[in-house]
Amino acid sequence: MADKEQKITIRTCVSCRDSSAKKELIRIVRTADGDVRIDPTGKMPGRGAYLCGARECLVRAFKGNKLSRALRCEVPESIKLELENLVVEDRTS
Ligand SMILES: [Zn+2]
Repeated sequence: MADKEQKITIRTCVSCRDSSAKKELIRIVRTADGDVRIDPTGKMPGRGAYLCGARECLVRAFKGNKLSRALRCEVPESIKLELENLVVEDRTS
């Protein structure tokens, strides 16, 4: 148990280009079937893209098609809505 390796995988947010530990980021995956999914486990096979979870980054990722470009496919509106729900923490404004 003592030599359990703690490898930290670093990934980059497609929007702000900030690097963070993979588990801090939201992973979006395009599966082999061409489906776009949000992957909370980080283990889904497919082409992955990452967002840091900042609302601004999400907005910019969709406005600039950064997410579609990273995944090389269209990102469905339903995924956008799901992501929006994920990043909404407090509505302070
Ligand atoms: Zn970001």
